[in-house]
Amino acid sequence: MLRSSSGLLRLGLLRGAAPAARARAPLPWMSGAPARPLRPLAGALFSSDAYHYHPGPIETKWQAIWKKADAEVAAAGGSEPLFNSMAGKKYVLSMFPYPSGHLHMGHVRVYTISDVVARFARQQGLNVLHPIGFDAFGLPAENAAIERGIAPAEWTRRNTAHMREQLRTLGIQFDWDRELSTCDPGYYRWTQWLFAELFRKGLAYRQEAAVNWDPVDCTVLANEQVDAEGRSWRSGALVERRQLRQWFVRTTSFADDLLHDLESVDWPENVKQMQRNWITYGRYAVTLPAVDVAPGLVAALAAGTGTGAGRGTPSKTPPPAMEVSVASLLELDAAGFVVVGPGHPLAEAARALDPEGATGQAVSRLAEALAAGGPVDEDPATANMAGVLLPGVTVTSPLDKHRRLPVYVAAYADILGRRQDHALAGADGVADGEADLEKVHLPRAFLGTAGCSLAVAFAREHGLDLPADRPLRGSAAHARRQEVFRALDRDRRIRHPLRLRDWLISRQRFWGCPIPVVYCQDRCAGSGEEGAVPVPDAQLPVSFPESSSPEKLAGRSLGQLLEEWRHTTCPCCNGPALRETDTMDTFVDSSWYFMRYCDPHNDKQIFDPKQVNQWMPVDIYVGGVEHAILHLLYARFITKFLHSEGHIESTVEPFQKLLVQGLVNGATYKSPVTGAYLKPHEVDMTVDPPVDIASGQPAAMTFEKMSKSKYNGVDPEVAVSAFGADTVRVFILFKAPYEQVLEWDDKAVAGPARWLRRVWALASEHAEGVHAAGGPPAPPAASPADRSSALLQLRALTHSTVERITRTLSETYTFNLAISDLMKLTNALAEVAEEDRRSPEYHEGVVHLLQMLAPFAPHISSELWETIHPGESITEAGWPKVDQKAIRDAVELVDITLPVMINGKNRGRVVYTPGQLDGKALQQHVEALARAVPTINGHLADQTIDKVIFVPGRLLNFVLEKK
Ligand SMILES: [Zn+2]
Repeated sequence: MLRSSSGLLRLGLLRGAAPAARARAPLPWMSGAPARPLRPLAGALFSSDAYHYHPGPIETKWQAIWKKADAEVAAAGGSEPLFNSMAGKKYVLSMFPYPSGHLHMGHVRVYTISDVVARFARQQGLNVLHPIGFDAFGLPAENAAIERGIAPAEWTRRNTAHMREQLRTLGIQFDWDRELSTCDPGYYRWTQWLFAELFRKGLAYRQEAAVNWDPVDCTVLANEQVDAEGRSWRSGALVERRQLRQWFVRTTSFADDLLHDLESVDWPENVKQMQRNWITYGRYAVTLPAVDVAPGLVAALAAGTGTGAGRGTPSKTPPPAMEVSVASLLELDAAGFVVVGPGHPLAEAARALDPEGATGQAVSRLAEALAAGGPVDEDPATANMAGVLLPGVTVTSPLDKHRRLPVYVAAYADILGRRQDHALAGADGVADGEADLEKVHLPRAFLGTAGCSLAVAFAREHGLDLPADRPLRGSAAHARRQEVFRALDRDRRIRHPLRLRDWLISRQRFWGCPIPVVYCQDRCAGSGEEGAVPVPDAQLPVSFPESSSPEKLAGRSLGQLLEEWRHTTCPCCNGPALRETDTMDTFVDSSWYFMRYCDPHNDKQIFDPKQVNQWMPVDIYVGGVEHAILHLLYARFITKFLHSEGHIESTVEPFQKLLVQGLVNGATYKSPVTGAYLKPHEVDMTVDPPVDIASGQPAAMTFEKMSKSKYNGVDPEVAVSAFGADTVRVFILFKAPYEQVLEWDDKAVAGPARWLRRVWALASEHAEGVHAAGGPPAPPAASPADRSSALLQLRALTHSTVERITRTLSETYTFNLAISDLMKLTNALAEVAEEDRRSPEYHEGVVHLLQMLAPFAPHISSELWETIHPGESITEAGWPKVDQKAIRDAVELVDITLPVMINGKNRGRVVYTPGQLDGKALQQHVEALARAVPTINGHLADQTIDKVIFVPGRLLNFVLEKK
């Protein structure tokens, strides 16, 4: 009512008298705290000696409890397939890992973020899906297998087992009963079914394509596996370009949807832009709503002078359609005229109609000038601004049907055309062939707008009006673009030339999902041109023989190795047939895993649509920016395909919100002499700054992406055993906003560690008091008028913190600010006077702190909760509800001390309780209080008051009339 929320919480009021020193003994039910010798507290509150926080045993205990609960769920046949539809749902997904064998700090960051969001949703009582699996096919396993002589399946099994345990030691609570692995036949059977379905619907096809061929390893290499000298990264052989017949998936068939539906998802704008740039060239072709052309000119157009006009006799010829090329939809708002080059059909028709007239002559001169090497000067001050109005032609403004725009033939249209060609040719690094450019086919008519300096110069030269340039920025620009897009798309007046190519999915690798196709030797009816037949569903999965071991694989092609396996019979005619030996790109495996999580054990179909419809879309997807293009695009494509086939109805977009987390960088030391990266034992860390032992000089320190070659990696296992999982989690969330780079710094872990120790001591002490009193106090009084202002302020802080953290975890995801809010609440609780520590308000503050801490630091909060409420679970305790009245009470009922001034000089103070008073009534009340103070009133005697300045909560100032 009176003050901003920040001014409301004046924590200074919460300071109480220092409590008398007394001894505290840990109680037997404080199972996590080992017994400590009794000793008196001296001075400091909550000395860590009195209630010592040992994360190790607590975390082990709770991880065992959660693991047992997981086992019970699994024993009961998995979590409920159909959930309580009344409670709402939250599907929280993190990108699944390659089973490399070890988690790195990037994994810790991504899984901690998704765990916080999922645990929060569980506390809110929602149906929560938070699954995990392993993206298990692919080169890492295959290479490890070849290098170590171990079967890829075995290598993968060992690694997933290890990573599962690592995830548990971080306290990440996944739905383990839904775990999947893409190399499991129960999974890839359905990846194969998906391929066969694409094939049957005409969306998978085989075509020749150029590939990088390693003649030593007899395999295709990805571009990234070929070094700058054109040699294979593994064999060192010179790589050959070979034409091979490869399988493609027709992603271009959903290109429009892939582009348009981006508008409906809540993703970072840069990721959306990367998707757009991958799909289109960024320029739009917009069809103008109407073109008015003089009858004579229509006849000339119809006579075939131009290529873009209609055919037939003049009388029947409809007005020609006209497209303009724009880089931004916002250009359409600022259009003043249209320009075309002398080669445009309209210009040619005008010239043909009257070659000797003024217009015809002018167009001819422009054409000749351009043909002769023409003006290419792009500087508006010196560019060729020659041009001529096309008489008898006007076009309707793209967004305002009441506005007509003139059309000019202009030399500078040639410059714009060249710029456009340049953009299409892949100026941003994507190389396209000539043939592709022809297909792109963008119009060569452009809008004259105030945003184009050439157009401004042209308008000045020819006395034309341009609408004022009012460039929109940020969200206003976004909203306007969407509006324009919708308006044009409704009338189908917008076209995007595609950059997107079909998806090449063939890989000549062993450790991947076999493409389920056989080639009929007789090319029987029922098999295609090549005799390709998809393997019938009943025969899936197609698996490589178990005996295919890496030793046999080394140096030989899969074709040689699997010669015997290849021979099979045609499902159509039972004649001889050969199996496809290519495997699929692992991006196929990950293009649909999030839907399988909804029904992971189904052996009758890819998934039950009912299950997928109830969970999809994923509400929050957390992952790295390295997947911002391909993985997201392919997952979106497959979702759209399955939607078009009726397998999923609830959404066409798989991921509603995307959180892209930043990298984790490590402290990196370099020799001040040689610049070489220093190993840990080469740096003396006991001094500050750390010293390069060899030179005796301070080492050069930077934060860089963690890498083996820089010796700057931090092993999550080491960090967890040193600090505890809760501290690592809190540090990772607190150190930087989730989307920014996180600099891992061992020294900085001390802050979060100290805070958790403080929470431990504070809540342990409170638990002791609760049990000494025989139970928790009754809830805070409904009528708070008789409470002290300190306690009312505490309640207000508790509830405003609940309000902010609820918003953080459901809208803004500013985890670092949330933790900082919890730290403030902890400080306020620590400052509560000793005599108020048995109050309902204090109890409420402590338990709400624990409830809000639970998603971030689940072990310590579970332990402390159990200590205060034996036998109860913090998850079941739910999420605290905001009591708005508690926040208001602090404003209305807390006494406010206000300085009173006369002519700006401090003359005393008044203490008042605002109550329900507001505005003028409040001011009168406070003025009366001030006049009742003798020292103040004395200064006012015999004076005329000119005016009174009252700033509620800040000051009261009497301004006296000058005598
Ligand atoms: Zn056949």
